[in-house]
Amino acid sequence: MIGLSKKKIKWLLILVKDNIKIIWIFLSDIFGWRFNPEKILPIVYLHKKDDKEGRIFFLLTEDNEIPKGVIYGGSVLTPYEMEITLIRKLELSDKIANKYGVKWTHFVDIGSSLLLLKWVAGVSNNKEWIKLYEMRKQTLIDSYKGGNDIQLHIHSYNIPGSPDFRWEYDSVKNAVYRQKNDKKKKGRTFGGWARQYKEKGNGQEPFTRHGSLEYGKKTLEEIFCPYFSDYKVTCFRAGGWDIGDSEAELKKSFLSLSEAGIMIDSSITKGSISKARWLTDYGMTFEVGARVDRNAYQVMIQRDSKETRDVFELLPTQPIALLGTSSGYITSLDDPCIVENIYKRLLNKNGKIKPGLHFIVEMFHIHNIVGDETWDNLVEGRGDMGRMEDHFRYLTEHCPKIECLTMTDAARLVMNLKD
Ligand SMILES: [Zn+2]
Repeated sequence: MIGLSKKKIKWLLILVKDNIKIIWIFLSDIFGWRFNPEKILPIVYLHKKDDKEGRIFFLLTEDNEIPKGVIYGGSVLTPYEMEITLIRKLELSDKIANKYGVKWTHFVDIGSSLLLLKWVAGVSNNKEWIKLYEMRKQTLIDSYKGGNDIQLHIHSYNIPGSPDFRWEYDSVKNAVYRQKNDKKKKGRTFGGWARQYKEKGNGQEPFTRHGSLEYGKKTLEEIFCPYFSDYKVTCFRAGGWDIGDSEAELKKSFLSLSEAGIMIDSSITKGSISKARWLTDYGMTFEVGARVDRNAYQVMIQRDSKETRDVFELLPTQPIALLGTSSGYITSLDDPCIVENIYKRLLNKNGKIKPGLHFIVEMFHIHNIVGDETWDNLVEGRGDMGRMEDHFRYLTEHCPKIECLTMTDAARLVMNLKD
């Protein structure tokens, strides 16, 4: 310390920026008390900002929607099938996770899980569908009331009025079905969010990229705000996880998200997934257990660019490189050792969490749950419900330091980091 006695050091000014800590020492004997920036003595050294124990957050997420293919061996969806898929499965999944202190973030596809039901209720004028729509809303409200989170997911082909809308109502069967030949309709290709909403547009145009977000926010906030005045849509997962496949598309997406007040995106940079592409493209885009500032912005975009500044990336944790699961991502039915292995990698030899904030984001589709003997026989402790319970029990026992967060919690955390 250049041989100065403590008496001579009158004032320390410490600035921490990125990984560099700058300490300015004002020496009264040399410069007097007057602040003079030219006469201060800067001592600069590299400093690991977070050398204290880090934190590990566990976020349980799922895309809440109806399956897009043939459903349960049939070709149409009846109110009963919708009820099992959209109501019963969600209620049971909440119950099981919440028992272990784990909260879901349901990324709700506004089309298939809300607006489609409302649309069928209108065209069929059948009370069953009206009742179903009301029950569905109540299920989501109850889930949120229970501490789970409801955030935004968009598939354009499920939104009535959209040029991509694919559904028809069969009055004989009192059921809905997806039109065949949905690869192409009116010259539009079938794809994820960024590909279906090509134009950035503005907030008033619901079939543009920015407008789709505003429309989605309005749809959810109209349902939740009367019950929860502080409810806000701040997190998004793109349909097909497609947030754009080039730098120009990504910028358009991030600008749209930022203008719509979305703080967290949980999609994947290059759109819908085939396994080969996942391994080659997505394996490189983010890192399991990466520090918060490393996962903060996609690697394809400059961190400080105008478009990305306000949007924080919290992507599904990508386990393929580690474990090669068949599903392509960690789900709540998979062997919980997958999460435990990641968790262990985040601990030092002494058992302390490595510096920084670490996020493990589990990803699921609740509609994939099947019953014990038949698809609709959902019984706690049996079949998929039993597997799910084993998963959460194991996690909470073997990963004692994880803190369970919802996406809204994470958005608040990010807000505090920025301040
Ligand atoms: Zn989806």
